[in-house]
Amino acid sequence: MKIAMVSEHASPLAAPGSVDAGGQNVHVAALSTALAARGHEVIVYTRRDDPALPRRVPLTDGVDVVHVDAGPAQRIPKDDLLPHMSALAAGLAQDWAAERPDVVHSHFWMSGLAALEAAETLEAAADAHPTARAAVTGGAPPVLHTFHALGVVKRRHQGSADTSPPERAWLEPQVGRRVDTVIATCSDEAFELRSLGVPSRSIALAPCGVDPELFHPDGPAEQRGARYRVLSVGRLVPRKGVDLVVRALALLAERGMDEVELVVGGTDGSAADPDPEISRLSGIAESLGVGDRVRFRGQVAREDMPALLRSADAVVCTPWYEPFGIVPLESMACGTPVIAASVGGLIDTVVDGATGLHVPPRDAEALADALAELLPDDDRRAAFGLAGRRRIEARYSWARVAAQTERIYLDALARARRAPASLEGAVL
Ligand code: UDP
Repeated sequence: MKIAMVSEHASPLAAPGSVDAGGQNVHVAALSTALAARGHEVIVYTRRDDPALPRRVPLTDGVDVVHVDAGPAQRIPKDDLLPHMSALAAGLAQDWAAERPDVVHSHFWMSGLAALEAAETLEAAADAHPTARAAVTGGAPPVLHTFHALGVVKRRHQGSADTSPPERAWLEPQVGRRVDTVIATCSDEAFELRSLGVPSRSIALAPCGVDPELFHPDGPAEQRGARYRVLSVGRLVPRKGVDLVVRALALLAERGMDEVELVVGGTDGSAADPDPEISRLSGIAESLGVGDRVRFRGQVAREDMPALLRSADAVVCTPWYEPFGIVPLESMACGTPVIAASVGGLIDTVVDGATGLHVPPRDAEALADALAELLPDDDRRAAFGLAGRRRIEARYSWARVAAQTERIYLDALARARRAPASLEGAVL
């Protein structure tokens, strides 16, 4: 199959761990690579954000990244990209007219808009030349879409701090209703999609994945001291709830459990010096008297992540909300238990009492209780680590996710052939 991925702001070539570069970049790169390993040809289309970038860059065998001119060739925050989506669509349509993909898979709501507009341009061209449609173009390919995050959930939790453009409120649900298939990454997202009016029959489920060879329990672990090590890693944005872990550390100290350190990986991505989120979090740590036990690592290189995860007694993920959350998968793959807020994708991935513990969201007391229960219990941590690894092997390797995704593509293709303008046939 020829697969066109569209990922307007999240290039698979960017380093994850900063403000607009995280799970989506990892997801697009890894899924594309795993699909290519199954014999497909993948092109990832992303917006050119640097004039020096070549138009087409090979990522790996069978995967190329194409930089499309759409707006100024410089870094633009993703929430300011909407005005450039028609230009992105024009660039996509031009490429696809020359070489039609079999399926299009867009990532994030704005890529969905661009992909749909490009597909409409192809469809209109095919309608204008029906013979050419039959002989060459075949009309527009089906568009499948992964949201990665939903504006309605973001607005619910972030309120006026949400910098998404207001148009997201109505354009995003439209993307969900217009694409051939929405690929939800977790059951919580599927529920949200239904409440946005996306019919169940056009929702399919495929989680994010992890590379189980790179993230493996066997391998070097970063050096550490005798204290229990709690790790929190990800983009350092307030909604990731790292302040809760700092507060839990102080609560543990009040209970006499002060031999615990917190390592925080990631940056806020603004490239400001000092990093404003690190300043805010270290201010909280100082004021609670645990400043000496919280260490900020800054951005963690991909290749250093497994050793860091292996060095921890527990990885804590306590976001306010989480569309999916790849870090818990990476942690379980390394055999490290996860304490997770029971939100979004973490409800599906972390099994309470088996691969880690669930805590209620935004509850530092509950988090301190969970840490106090788990950290001193070597046997339980080892059992959680083993079960986590087994769960990853059974469900979350990118190879398995790619096979699931391929089936969803084939299903969409079959339905497009049977009934070009409808969405017959349940896929969930
Ligand atoms: N990441 C990284 N270095 C960092 C911080 C994060 O490589 O300093 C990676 C992390 O290992 C994971 C991804 O970025 O693969 C974050 O994905 P997740 O879904 O957990 O969060 P998101 O950033 O998408 O909200």
